[in-house]
Amino acid sequence: MASLTKNCCRLFMASVCLCLVSSLAELQRFTQQAKANGSLSFLVVGDWGRKGLYNQSQVAYQMGSVGERLDIDFVISAGDNFYEDGLTGVDDPAFEDSFSNIYTAPSLQKQWYNVLGNHDYRGDVEAQLSPILREKDNRWLCLRSFILNAEIVEIFFVDTTPFVNEYFINPKDHTYDWRGVSPRDDYLANLLKDVNSALKKSTATWKIVVGHHTIRSAGNHGVTQELEMQLLPVLEDNNVDIYINGHDHCLQHIISTDSLIQFLTSGGGSKAWQCDVKWWNP
Ligand SMILES: [Zn+2]
Repeated sequence: MASLTKNCCRLFMASVCLCLVSSLAELQRFTQQAKANGSLSFLVVGDWGRKGLYNQSQVAYQMGSVGERLDIDFVISAGDNFYEDGLTGVDDPAFEDSFSNIYTAPSLQKQWYNVLGNHDYRGDVEAQLSPILREKDNRWLCLRSFILNAEIVEIFFVDTTPFVNEYFINPKDHTYDWRGVSPRDDYLANLLKDVNSALKKSTATWKIVVGHHTIRSAGNHGVTQELEMQLLPVLEDNNVDIYINGHDHCLQHIISTDSLIQFLTSGGGSKAWQCDVKWWNP
């Protein structure tokens, strides 16, 4: 959960403006109007879609309460939107059972900006990207990678699942839907190039990157080495302020003396882990 403010005060909520604008880069761009004083408030939740079970409904209730108090402008989902295996298609009732009928609080009736997690890739991955879901619930917006320009902050959403070697080399009994991702090397190279170029062009006061997988984490899944090797240098080169992820079912805020980036994990949308700490010696 995050609150950004430029002038250290909060005014009335500005109307949410979502529009697609043309992009010079490969990544699609969206705009989100800030409040009248230039501030923004938003929630981040990851790892949630369990048809209300495993405390998803309770977390949703608390999000509604906090969302009202913060007068939020939008919500970010950090992926793993539908357990265990994403959506079966655009008509999968899990969309309503895990999203529309769960996040019913008035304060959550805002735009949701969603990325995909590894569990989402185990279903019909293109269903979550389909405009048909947006017709069913106009809060829903999910793309693999995109940019949100919200005046004082620019948020770069990055599709992190295809970076993880294990899902390709040792998928166990899971089937991943890699449509749109192959050939993988080209996909990742282009994505890193696009993110790097978009970050370089950004003049926003705050630069935030959102992906599903961890870069710094002391949780169960730990550090995602592929992202540490490939994405982190891009973030450091471009003075990114915050990297936000899900994947580990807990809340973390990690800072270190050797990086200016703040690492936030917000993966407690359901089935949160307790005392599930992976030894990590940075
Ligand atoms: Zn995950």
